[in-house]
Amino acid sequence: MTATLPTPDLLPLSASPVGERLRDSHGRAITDLRVSITDRCNFRCVYCRTGNEGAQYAELAHEDYLRMIRLFVSLGVEKIRLTGGEPLLRAGLLELVQEIAKLRTVFTHEPEPLDLAVTTNGHLLAQLAQPLKDAGLTRVTVSMDAVDSETFAAITRVPRSFDRVLAGIRAASTAGLGPVKVNCVLLRGFNDSQIEAFAEFSRREDVIVRFIEWMPLEEASSGDSNARSWSREAVVSLDEIVARLNAYRPEGLGISGLVELPPNAASETARRYTFADGRGEIGIIAPVSRPFCGHCSRVRLTSDGKIRTCLFSQMDHDLAGRMIRGAPDAELTRYIRQVVNGKEARHHIGEPGFEKPSRSMVHIGG
Ligand code: SAM
Ligand code: SF4
Repeated sequence: MTATLPTPDLLPLSASPVGERLRDSHGRAITDLRVSITDRCNFRCVYCRTGNEGAQYAELAHEDYLRMIRLFVSLGVEKIRLTGGEPLLRAGLLELVQEIAKLRTVFTHEPEPLDLAVTTNGHLLAQLAQPLKDAGLTRVTVSMDAVDSETFAAITRVPRSFDRVLAGIRAASTAGLGPVKVNCVLLRGFNDSQIEAFAEFSRREDVIVRFIEWMPLEEASSGDSNARSWSREAVVSLDEIVARLNAYRPEGLGISGLVELPPNAASETARRYTFADGRGEIGIIAPVSRPFCGHCSRVRLTSDGKIRTCLFSQMDHDLAGRMIRGAPDAELTRYIRQVVNGKEARHHIGEPGFEKPSRSMVHIGG
């Protein structure tokens, strides 16, 4: 499903800033845009996608994503992350990356290249890592929820997937897309036995392992006995992960214990740790037990071109629809400002009356 648009009114590569930097009504600068380029996926991770619902939303032509990205960049966005669904499934991805890589920041002293990343399940990464790097990609994050092939296949529900993803991670490091970040969502009683093995993996493979607390964003699991439904009890919290790793003595190291690292930026979502010898890095992203909404710098664009101001929004805002109806850039930037102004102050996970968002993670873009 591809939308046909009128000739885009494109901004020059290093667009002049359009007014003030994009901010919401809580004073948060929006510098980080996540763009889903498909809601299709070739995995069915038990905590994310049952597969019952398939692809639900349209995919736009790459020129359309590019035009929307250019508008956000003209308003101060400096980081772009392509995601999905599984973004490596999209044909023409390399050309899209090439075009985004030509854009420059507009609110910095000098125009600078964007921070351009992809989040992928890694299944197709081994062959695409070097071409993505050559196209101008800066970084890659690979999701990997177990470091043994049996548990991995049980999570993704795709046989023999582990070796391919491991090869993808290694190819990304070799291509210079590192340090590769490896995201792991822990589910109690399912893969939480892997915490220490992930620490070894980080040290051995020289990757940053990031544990992410599971959020209530999974597809509905009716009729799917393997799928997991979110509950607070199933979430493995930051405190538990830190306690486990503090008690752990990595192989070849005389002492146990984590060493905390300073944040890379004020809007950093992960708490960062290493071990006494500085080998390995562990990040913990704790949206459930330690929400970081107060310094959230993100908005999202779904594969069908809707703006979502929070993962937990109850509605989305149809930017692509306005483009398709022929709105000029000035009108679209005004619309983006108005939508971002209404960004939610915070999420309400675990609070009485919490409602799941109107889309699940795979259909938003993580
Ligand atoms: N398919 C790609 C992948 O898996 O990396 C990109 C999309 S996926 C939705 C993006 C990230 O969201 C992955 O790291 C995944 O583990 C994470 N994720 C998915 N569902 C989640 C949930 N309910 N809570 C926390 N993280 C989740
Ligand atoms: Fe697909 Fe990524 Fe969700 Fe797994 S986490 S089902 S790979 S979108």
